[in-house]
Amino acid sequence: ITILAIESSCDETSASVCRDGRILSNVIATQAVHEQYGGVVPELASRAHMENIVPVVDKALKQAGVTMQELNAVAFTQAPGLIGSLLVGVQFAKSMALALDVPLIAVHHMQAHVLANLIPEENPSFPFLCLTVSGGHTQIVLCESATQMTVLGETIDDAAGEAFDKTAKLLGLPYPGGPLIDKYAQLGNPDRFHFPEPQIPELNFSFSGLKTSILYFLRNAGTSLVYKEEFLKTEEEQKQFIAENLNDICASIQQRIISILLNKLKKAVKETGVKQVCLAGGVSANSGLRKAFVAMGEKHHWKTFIPSFEYCTDNAGMIAITAYHKYLAGEFVSLAVQPSARAEW
Ligand code: ATP
Ligand code: MG
Ligand code: FE
Repeated sequence: ITILAIESSCDETSASVCRDGRILSNVIATQAVHEQYGGVVPELASRAHMENIVPVVDKALKQAGVTMQELNAVAFTQAPGLIGSLLVGVQFAKSMALALDVPLIAVHHMQAHVLANLIPEENPSFPFLCLTVSGGHTQIVLCESATQMTVLGETIDDAAGEAFDKTAKLLGLPYPGGPLIDKYAQLGNPDRFHFPEPQIPELNFSFSGLKTSILYFLRNAGTSLVYKEEFLKTEEEQKQFIAENLNDICASIQQRIISILLNKLKKAVKETGVKQVCLAGGVSANSGLRKAFVAMGEKHHWKTFIPSFEYCTDNAGMIAITAYHKYLAGEFVSLAVQPSARAEW
């Protein structure tokens, strides 16, 4: 079974070809245009998808050594994402399925992030747990089969990636700041500054309180975590404080984000008894998180899995592997299908 998959939910235009569950190509065009704005600009993202989609699909087919006539199905990301971005991928996939007279497969982007863990040869068996940490989501998912997943907990405000990016912005770092915090954190002392861990019920997460405490911490140039008018430092003093302590601040922030994530994951393993545990999403590129995750797995005798980097951030390979399993389950959609910015599972 040969499937072409298209991902266009945010600011990556990607196409992948998979054959019988093996990824033959995974072409990703990242849109640099957003950097100067400090975040993704939806209208610019849609336009860039329009420019990228034909060459990206061409390249994916060429790299795979597959002709259009060999395709058994076309898959696309249906939701969630930016509606204008999704539309480009959906319309392209529909046209191609119609022209080739092959079935169409709609994929949920967050389910695909989870199933990226099935791409490597050594992969988890069902059931497994997955901590998905991306730019827009933070979820603990119980995956019982390739088509049966349940969200056990998720963030009630910011996502983990947002927590990285927004605090990086407070530190004056360019977007996306996550990778930069990672870089500086490797040189710093994570125990130097103490940020509070929020007490959120069940398996849910919250990161907005952390962001606020970091804001006050910086405004007071490290003298206090609570907002106190009399400690307010000038912008110059704040900048100097950040410059002198950047590595330790980044290490301390990162350590707190990691402990928020992994403490909930530990709780999920305890509650479900499921000991095969995966990471997914762009934030799983974080070196501190990867190390702590593997160490926690060793300590508690879990079997741990992390997809390779190209399958952690947005990519069509994860859409293709999900589509392959949907193909086997006979889950197809009609040409009337519409994308959705938000979506139930
Ligand atoms: P979603 O899937 O929720 O719609 P997304 O697909 O845009 O969001 P991803 O591409 O999976 O998100 O991940 C992007 C996020 O990962 C950004 O917030 C970025 O800062 C973060 N990130 C990437 N590398 C690192 C790193 N090394 N350390 C911390 N964060 C990182
Ligand atoms: Mg992205
Ligand atoms: Fe994503």
